[in-house]
Amino acid sequence: MSKVLMVGNWKMNMDKSSIKKFYDSFDKKDFVDGVEVVICAPFPYLGTIAELSDKISIKVGAQNMCNELAGAFTGEVSPLMLRDFNTEYVILGHSERRQIYLESDELIAEKIKIALNSGLKPILCVGEMLEEREAGKEFEKVYKQLLAASKCISLDQWHNVVIAYEPVWAIGTGKVASASDAQNMSKYIREQVKEFAGNEIAENLRILYGGSVKPSNVKELMECEDINGALVGGASLDAADFKSLWGTL
Ligand code: PEP
Repeated sequence: MSKVLMVGNWKMNMDKSSIKKFYDSFDKKDFVDGVEVVICAPFPYLGTIAELSDKISIKVGAQNMCNELAGAFTGEVSPLMLRDFNTEYVILGHSERRQIYLESDELIAEKIKIALNSGLKPILCVGEMLEEREAGKEFEKVYKQLLAASKCISLDQWHNVVIAYEPVWAIGTGKVASASDAQNMSKYIREQVKEFAGNEIAENLRILYGGSVKPSNVKELMECEDINGALVGGASLDAADFKSLWGTL
């Protein structure tokens, strides 16, 4: 299996001066061989972070994109524009996009397709709401999200796909899934991808856990067999917290 993947999702936070302070806190020696680090920044800062990230080993990611390449789509950002700023990853299907902006599984699948065709690596977020978990429907929900996306991914593109399991009730709430629940769902995701795309692709698929990951709980989660990294919101806003996520592994 490849490196551990640590992805920071800044959401609609940070500004010019806090970004400078964040990057000033990093030094080349904060990065280690077995860990790949990505920051997914708001669109207006992608150019800035692409320049700053180049000097240290942080990769650039976006938090969303349009499902079209160009044209009359006021307020949208094309995957080609993201590539122009050396963006390598894009988060798609985050629960905030699904819930607040009503993005459907089908729209997210279209975005995955166009992201892959544009040379971006999508980080597809899947996960259940609290009521769905309480009703024992968490696997059903995640299966539906995975199935829709899988229809838009060709066999030769799977190696560029990352899947993040983010139980919605654990995002920004301080309630982290237990390591065994996170592992069970990650194992389930890998098994489903094996059905869609075969054994080799499933074995090499990078699956992240996201939902209140912090320096105090990251080690236990990263020790799970089917978890290959983390998607981190709150703890990625502070450089010391963020780097300690992989410093303790
Ligand atoms: C997220 O935004 O994807 C996330 C997991 O946030 P937090 O780490 O703050 O729960």
